[in-house]
Amino acid sequence: MPRELPKSYEPGAIEARWAEYWVKEKLFSVRTPEDGDPRPVFTLLLPPPNVTGRLHMGHMLNQTQMDIIVRWHRMRGFVTLWLPGTDHAGIATQMMVERQLATEGKKRSELGREQFIQRVWCWKKQYGSAIQEQMKRLGASVDWDREYFTMDDNLSRAVREVFVRLHEEGLIYRGKYIVNWCPRCETAISDLEVKHEEIPGKLWEIRYPVIGAGEFITVATTRPETMLGDTAVAVNERDERYKHLHGKNALLPLMNREIPIITDELAQPEFGTGAVKVTPAHDPNDFEAGLRHNLPQIEVMDQHARMNENAGAYAGLDRYAARKRVLEDLREQGFLVGEKDYTIAIGKCDRCGTVVEPRLSTQWFVKIKPLAERAIEVAEKDYIRFTPANYLQVYLNWMRNIHDWTISRQLWWGHRIPAWHCECGEIIVAREAPSACSKCDGSKLTQDPDVLDTWFSSGLLPFTSLGWPEATRDLEVFYPTSLLITGFDILFFWVARMIMLGCWFMARPHKPGERLGEQSSAARTRASGPTPASSETLTVEELRDSVPFREVYIHALVRDAERQKMSKTKGNVLDPIQVIEKYGTDATRFTLAAMSSPGTDIAFNESRTEGYRAFANKIWNAARFMFMNVDRINPGLRPGRTGEGARPHTDIAGFQATTLEDRWILSRFNTVTKNVNESLAAYRFDESANSIYDFFWGEFCDWYIELIKPRLAPECEQNARTACGNLVAVFEASLRLLHPVMPFITDEIWHVIYDGKPPQKSLALAGYPQADERQIDNAAETQMAIVQDLIVSVRNLRAELKVETKEKVPVEVFVLELEIRSLIDENRNALERLANVQEVRFADSSLEKLSNVRHTARFDVRLDYEKKVDIAAERENARKELEKIEKELENIGRQLANEGFVTKAPALVVEKLRKRQEELLALRGKIRIKVDEMT
Ligand SMILES: [Zn+2]
Ligand SMILES: [Zn+2]
Repeated sequence: MPRELPKSYEPGAIEARWAEYWVKEKLFSVRTPEDGDPRPVFTLLLPPPNVTGRLHMGHMLNQTQMDIIVRWHRMRGFVTLWLPGTDHAGIATQMMVERQLATEGKKRSELGREQFIQRVWCWKKQYGSAIQEQMKRLGASVDWDREYFTMDDNLSRAVREVFVRLHEEGLIYRGKYIVNWCPRCETAISDLEVKHEEIPGKLWEIRYPVIGAGEFITVATTRPETMLGDTAVAVNERDERYKHLHGKNALLPLMNREIPIITDELAQPEFGTGAVKVTPAHDPNDFEAGLRHNLPQIEVMDQHARMNENAGAYAGLDRYAARKRVLEDLREQGFLVGEKDYTIAIGKCDRCGTVVEPRLSTQWFVKIKPLAERAIEVAEKDYIRFTPANYLQVYLNWMRNIHDWTISRQLWWGHRIPAWHCECGEIIVAREAPSACSKCDGSKLTQDPDVLDTWFSSGLLPFTSLGWPEATRDLEVFYPTSLLITGFDILFFWVARMIMLGCWFMARPHKPGERLGEQSSAARTRASGPTPASSETLTVEELRDSVPFREVYIHALVRDAERQKMSKTKGNVLDPIQVIEKYGTDATRFTLAAMSSPGTDIAFNESRTEGYRAFANKIWNAARFMFMNVDRINPGLRPGRTGEGARPHTDIAGFQATTLEDRWILSRFNTVTKNVNESLAAYRFDESANSIYDFFWGEFCDWYIELIKPRLAPECEQNARTACGNLVAVFEASLRLLHPVMPFITDEIWHVIYDGKPPQKSLALAGYPQADERQIDNAAETQMAIVQDLIVSVRNLRAELKVETKEKVPVEVFVLELEIRSLIDENRNALERLANVQEVRFADSSLEKLSNVRHTARFDVRLDYEKKVDIAAERENARKELEKIEKELENIGRQLANEGFVTKAPALVVEKLRKRQEELLALRGKIRIKVDEMT
């Protein structure tokens, strides 16, 4: 491990080395704590990336935020488990392999199911671990020893267990329903997988002759090809126009089929002609109406959305070709009576963009209402807390309007449905393949060809990844997990389903002495009976510990610098790996953290990352300066040099505050530590990153190090040892503070501080700083602010007057308060050094009438510098300054006049504003006099 820092900061080399070390040393592998272990537990499930995945900016943001929270907990002494895995991603992976086959000129049907699945496993072996390698590069501190894949044997077993139990409870059923069908993917897809769009289209009016009435009834449609499957025309009972047609039949044009005219609410008198065609096999609303009236369901399309044999003369045509032909024929035969422009709503397959066709098919469904009820109750009770809080309402609205979940997919890659069909028509749902039919004892059984929706298995992960249905110690310790960090896009797909399934399978009545998991184990042995836990009615309090996670943090989107959504078609997609290669992982992580303000999308700007790369560089150089001094003054501080054991520096212990700058930096460190801990607890990643940044760079590097430099001089001896010790103590503690956001550079420097022999194997395992409020020293902070103000004023004056850098200039200071005068007197050395001042003199009277003066509320300072003075320019400067002051005063006045603000803002903020207002008023007085004098 490093004992010296290289001269220049090269993130690439350092980061690769640490990433490998952390994994090789298994630093983040968690041993399940024994009974009686007093340490608190923190569990976080990684939203499993698709096995086909490549890291994108959304992942990078997600994983940065997770890693910050995880490292922060681990450093605070929690038993911290971050559980990784990958999802088999049914449809996405199948498409990937199909595409690969296509390049070889093959189709999956030519391979057959078994061979195709083999092929997918090969693909997975070869390409499926890209995202894990990328995660390692990010420094994600997950427990790789517990990594799972959603198709692992034990997880597949758990999936079958859940399916069978739900089936036994009557919550899984099979039926013919209208589903969203993708003709390209040849599978049913759930409502969530359909992207809705509005496009310009047409509305066609077609008239059907009414048999024996000598008149027509006119219907309208946007999909005329479906008329071939019409089995009724509906009118509304109340509609006077059609009263005389009730009970009559119409003749379906082109097909010459007699269909009844029925009365149903499907037809609304206000819309169009008030009469509608009814196509039960090709429209979800017509399907329902069909059931109400016992209408036949005639399918006229096949799985490729081509017309089938029921479509008569149109059989074999693609749906759009058929549409054209149907319209031509209708027109020719005089049935087409209208054609209007019309905006139509279409659904597209989320995966492939093909227009979805509503299709009648036999699918497996989960009866979702009983599960949703519990999931609503626990959220309403705040057993799961949402951040930002508004997502609770979004979640509840969706849950209250939820539809049954289509869980079967007509794919080959996935968890095959554990149901077997017998020749006699019986369907047997079982955990393992049955040897004989339970009804006819026949042995010719075939397994259902469908697989389960990918989200079915990922919805179970919070408990199956911990060993369910076994009653494991892991479940007892790590469930419910503490937190879930994820994006809004999978709130319904995944988050809601985890809550429903968790509250179903992990719920149990609390009986004295009962331990978590026993119930599920008992239920497993009674495999044939209904699951006792879920069939019992539980009070909401009893559901408290069944939730899959206590908190959900929903992160924002990462957009490009112009706030545009990143998309392949726009060509504005940023590859995080490229950004990392350019600026380092630490700087990239820092950018995402610093820009993560809650509820706001991130406009990712590389110039920010460049800035944070400079921040890392600044820390690096400060460290090199520190080591140079330590090695000269007190090599014993680096224990390896003298053979001593590592000296712990935890929480800035060993710091000796002897001077104003010491008291000040100690106070600032504690204030910042307090802010950082508080903001992390509230998922304010931006606040925590920004306050560390301001402290480390703005206060520690730019001021503290500059201020103590004279004390490090060789002639100071004892003084130098103290100053050197202080420097190391603050630096070490600041590295701890920064570690969760920038884990690489901090571990590197930290190891060098301990000369390669640190007390822990990594900074990741060291303690996190906690604020000691007794060390917050307001007096020191106020005094230091005055000294800084004075130094900055002189620097600014020098800049304005364009004084040569090397020229030392005397200054004159006027102060009213004796206290401030002695403060400045005591710190004259700092002023002389940091503002290049030759000599500090105190004036007896105010300096308003003179030039080269800077006024502040507490002092006036004048640069004693002879130079042709341009009165006009100076007057102009004073005017400008006055303007600036007026503007700021106006702003503060407005804020303070706002009652809402004054009551809601933290008292400290209001107090600060009042103080600033006072200062500005005093300052304005002074400058007004000056302007007066000059005119
Ligand atoms: Zn598709
Ligand atoms: Zn049978």
